[in-house]
Amino acid sequence: MNVPSLPASLRPTRNYVGGRFVETGRTFDNVCPIDGTVLAQVYEADAALVDEAVHSARRAVEGAWGNTNVQERARTLHRVADAIERRFEDFLAAEIADTGRPANQARQLDVYRGIHNFRTFADLGKAAHGECFETHLADGSELLNYTVRKPLGVVASISPWNLPILSLTWKAAPALICGNAVVCKPSEETPSSATLLAEVFDEVGVPAGVFNVVHGFGPGSAGEILARHPGIDALTFTGETRTGSAIMKTVADGVKDVSFELGGKNAAVVFADADFDAAVDGVIRSSFTNAGQVCLCSERVYVEQPIFERFVAAMKARTEALKIGWPDEADVFMGSLISHAHREKVLSYFELARQEGATVVTGGGVPAFGDVRDHGAFVQPTIWTGLTDDARCMREEVFGPVCHIAPFVTEDEVRARVNDSAYGLAAAVWTRDLSRAHRLSRRLHVGIVWLNTWFSRDLRTPFGGSKLSGIGREGGRWSLDFYSETTNICVKV
Ligand code: NAD
Repeated sequence: MNVPSLPASLRPTRNYVGGRFVETGRTFDNVCPIDGTVLAQVYEADAALVDEAVHSARRAVEGAWGNTNVQERARTLHRVADAIERRFEDFLAAEIADTGRPANQARQLDVYRGIHNFRTFADLGKAAHGECFETHLADGSELLNYTVRKPLGVVASISPWNLPILSLTWKAAPALICGNAVVCKPSEETPSSATLLAEVFDEVGVPAGVFNVVHGFGPGSAGEILARHPGIDALTFTGETRTGSAIMKTVADGVKDVSFELGGKNAAVVFADADFDAAVDGVIRSSFTNAGQVCLCSERVYVEQPIFERFVAAMKARTEALKIGWPDEADVFMGSLISHAHREKVLSYFELARQEGATVVTGGGVPAFGDVRDHGAFVQPTIWTGLTDDARCMREEVFGPVCHIAPFVTEDEVRARVNDSAYGLAAAVWTRDLSRAHRLSRRLHVGIVWLNTWFSRDLRTPFGGSKLSGIGREGGRWSLDFYSETTNICVKV
């Protein structure tokens, strides 16, 4: 296939502020990770433009948007979802070109979820309710207490590159249904789908300032400027743990509400009684989906001793059969990493694992294609064995297509080893023993446990991590709680 290209309206890629598409005096390259070519110039937002975006958002929440009711906002979000659906192919092209991922994944996961996030939160917002208590006091009088939800105001959203439109809409949709206005700072690696979404908001006629996009980097650029802006009321962030920590310091003086979805070093646990083929299939998906660049991917795999050798052999055979390649090739499973810089990081862990004594079961290098993809950011899916639990490769998030497989003997032992991590995002357990599955799941220090599956979940359920993996929960009513302020009204009856 040809290297994918962006829709014409994204070349160059502009900011969207106060209902206008805005160019600035500075640009940066959006590089396609499949072959290293420049897809478009992106206008970097400076401090003045970020300031304008925050003020536009403020005017929107204090103006017409602030006066809408939830039914009106839900209709707007459904119209946005419809418009994304109409431009599905443009969103698909943007996600593929920016990330290098297989078209099937971008179709079924990224763009699909972009639409679904708007529809889900539109409906959940309409169904949201408060609480009411009748209170009888000692003197015989009565009180009626009831709660109302109000928007927070201006929500800053800073999102990562690994699932661009999914992450951005996962934040923007609930923020908007709650009546806030948003200023979104997408990753510098994946700016395209955010500006496309701005085109959709523009086309649908959403009032100026309700939805804004500012492009740029983190420190010293649009990300930090937005986080530091005194005019924001809350900040929702998904990305690396150390970035979350930096942002937390930035917003501390203003005591802003934060919701953080951060990194992980997730485990998969496979018991000998598991459906063997389903477990191999599941661990292949949980380790290598999106080239391992999903916060929920399992980089640590623990397999019960009696099936360890067989499991490693099956994983090796399945991994070596995975097709790496062009986004629209038949049966392609894996594309490139996001960038050459990220590939350097992943390759440095491949080297570190060797130094730490790993056996490389398969992979550990860079595939050769003999065409333009050799200028891209590809690596081989990689399996290690033989590392100790205290190795850096067992404790630090690689965020690439790699897993380490280790044997275990008892349930208590594996529970302790899974929990022995600074992170606490997700785990997957493979077993046919129902009692054990439930017993173990509730003792794992993570935000979500999958039993005999991985990744899919109902969007009404809570999502987030413990320890270094995040602060708070999003999803369903948890998102509505974060993106709204509750006031208790106490009435003497
Ligand atoms: P990153 O932290 O490098 O960047 C995320 C965003 O933060 C980008 O938009 C970036 O420009 C911005 N940023 C960077 N420094 C900043 C600063 N000082 N102030 C303000 N903004 C700043 O993360 P990434 O590399 O884009 O994404 C990968 C990471 O995201 C992985 O660690 C992954 O586990 C995590 N992630 C977590 C979840 C989750 O739900 N827990 C989901 C997806 C990704």
